[in-house]
Amino acid sequence: MSAPAGGWTTATVAGVRRPIARSVELRLDVHDRVDHLPGQHYVVRLTAEDGYTAQRSYSVASPPGDPLVELFVERLDDGEVSTYLADVVEPGDELEVRGPIGGWFVWDGVTPALLVGGGSGVVPLVAMVRHARDIGRLDLLRVAVSARTLAALPYADELAEAGAQIVLTREARGIRPASRLGGMDLFPLVEPGQTVFVCGSTGFATTATQLLVELGVPATVIRVEQFGPSALELPKR
Ligand SMILES: Cc1cc2nc3c(=O)[nH]c(=O)nc-3n(C[C@H](O)[C@H](O)[C@H](O)COP(=O)(O)OP(=O)(O)OC[C@H]3O[C@@H](n4cnc5c(N)ncnc54)[C@H](O)[C@@H]3O)c2cc1C
Repeated sequence: MSAPAGGWTTATVAGVRRPIARSVELRLDVHDRVDHLPGQHYVVRLTAEDGYTAQRSYSVASPPGDPLVELFVERLDDGEVSTYLADVVEPGDELEVRGPIGGWFVWDGVTPALLVGGGSGVVPLVAMVRHARDIGRLDLLRVAVSARTLAALPYADELAEAGAQIVLTREARGIRPASRLGGMDLFPLVEPGQTVFVCGSTGFATTATQLLVELGVPATVIRVEQFGPSALELPKR
């Protein structure tokens, strides 16, 4: 399956919400939009008056059937782009965007999949869950997500409704004490024939991948997207 790809265009900010602290959800009306597949991302480019530009990637949280493209941005205190998106952007603003992008971290809507996400790494997985719900195939997905607290987990209600295994590292949830994602969390979710999508910080992605391999999941079926420091996205003058 080849994934769609879009070039540079503009998007009008149709909605701004802050459903959880230190983050923002942006709903974008993308002009001349190319429909995306769940798991793909957009690049947002900011340009200052002196011509200085900075661009960063953001996964799409909305399913292909949504008329708007939804991004969910975690605000990093010293972040160049995330602080602007979280603090400054308002409905009616125009943003320069490129997308959809990405042909590897993409769910086809047909193959059984295990989704493993940490923190804002759940965003592309939410697009997969929403798409599965839209096409009546939530049965294809197994989901495990991790965050410090439930209040810090993006899309916590939707993920819980979809049956996600929710792992909290700083607070207990039911009978599960606070602890990091472990093999016992993933073991019940692993099934033959799955493609596995892992997304989160570099540390989370490395640990989750290691746990999966230890559980016997072939490395060849594991697809990883890391939201680490953006060394490859240096600002340009
Ligand atoms: C394919 C892809 C999809 C992504 N999707 C999302 C998404 O859906 N939501 C989202 O919030 N982010 C996402 N990211 C991360 C995003 O692209 C930026 O890296 C992030 O918003 C930080 O940019 P910034 O300009 O605010 O910070 P920068 O100015 O680049 O960095 C500020 C400081 O934070 C550190 N840093 C940078 N990125 C991170 C990070 N992710 N975690 C911890 N520390 C970091 C830097 O080393 C630096 O010290 C994605 C990244 C990729 C590659």
